[in-house]
Amino acid sequence: MERDPSPSPRLLLGPGPSMVHPRVLQAMATPLLGHLDPEFLSVLADIRAMLRAVFQTQNDLTLAISGTGTAAMEAALSNLIEPGDPMLACIQGYFGERLAEMGGRYGAQVARLEVPWGEVQDPSAIDASLAARPAKLVTLVHAETSTGALQPEIAEIAAACHRHGALLVLDVVTSLGGLPVEIDAWDVDLAYSAGQKSLSAPPGLSPITVGDRARAAMARRSSSPVVFYFDLQLLGQYWSDRPVYHHTAPISTAFGLRAALRLAVEEGLPARFKRHAANARLLWDGLERLDLPLLVPEPIRLPTLSTPRLPGTFDEAEIRRRLLLEQSIEIAGGFGPLAGKVWRIGLMGESSRSENVQRLLTALEDSMRGAVRRA
Ligand SMILES: *Cc1c(COP(=O)(O)O)cnc(C)c1O
Repeated sequence: MERDPSPSPRLLLGPGPSMVHPRVLQAMATPLLGHLDPEFLSVLADIRAMLRAVFQTQNDLTLAISGTGTAAMEAALSNLIEPGDPMLACIQGYFGERLAEMGGRYGAQVARLEVPWGEVQDPSAIDASLAARPAKLVTLVHAETSTGALQPEIAEIAAACHRHGALLVLDVVTSLGGLPVEIDAWDVDLAYSAGQKSLSAPPGLSPITVGDRARAAMARRSSSPVVFYFDLQLLGQYWSDRPVYHHTAPISTAFGLRAALRLAVEEGLPARFKRHAANARLLWDGLERLDLPLLVPEPIRLPTLSTPRLPGTFDEAEIRRRLLLEQSIEIAGGFGPLAGKVWRIGLMGESSRSENVQRLLTALEDSMRGAVRRA
């Protein structure tokens, strides 16, 4: 019988997917269950409970959307927006831009609050913008994977939103599981993430949590959300103690996500955040030694995604290609205004190990030396 070739064992140090623990891979290789089998429902119950722990929330409506982080973005916006609703899109990179684009597609009247790529928002600017033009919802990215910048002061921003009657929708795709995300303490109304970044699950299920204010806004809608697949009210009925069929859950992916969440809970969030911070420090020191200074200043620098600035004296795409094909290490290039100017190096979840940092730094040094020789 013919077999497909196995993929090469890559070291994944890009913006996701991240490395996956063997226990997660094993969980995904177990026999399937039906999506309404009581044994599978207990898998979903475990996922819900552990998602509440990692989101640091008591929100009842906490589940995982079928699809990647983009599906969770669609779910967030399609459930909150009705045509004509005013939205404020905070934009500091590609994913903030994408939220603005998506909001427009659902019919929102989108106002943009932009800062240059690599910078973050000032809470008082958000406050002033909402005072001048109220909005139903504000979209914001906590960890901007296109730039490596971390938005601080989320609680202040949430308070400003609520002062002006707006809901805060927070993208925690690259932060959840790698650095503190405190949905209840910060009073965030809706947050979503993805399995394959700092949670180190396979792509395909994306966590989302919805607070009371956002649920009330959904209940007040005059029309049903246009996308049936992402209707959070119906999804909440499936992800409940008395489930009703909505769509077939991705069974194997759910096994994988449960195993990945179990690993996170076993490690403990404080230890996990400490590990991410320590390995980021190792990477940053090593990059500085290689004359690759970081784009983002330390107080707002993401531990899970680093963006070293490139000198422009070598062909960065060629080095990345050689890293992948000769050393089996994946990192990513910049894009948009940062194309050719930075690399994007992810240390998320299982990828965040000191031996991985060491291996990358050695490989980078080798391939950069080779590139300079050829130039
Ligand atoms: C990766 C990412 C997304 C989109 O997730 P996909 O899983 O690629 O669909 C959204 N927001 C941020 C900040 C991301 O890094």
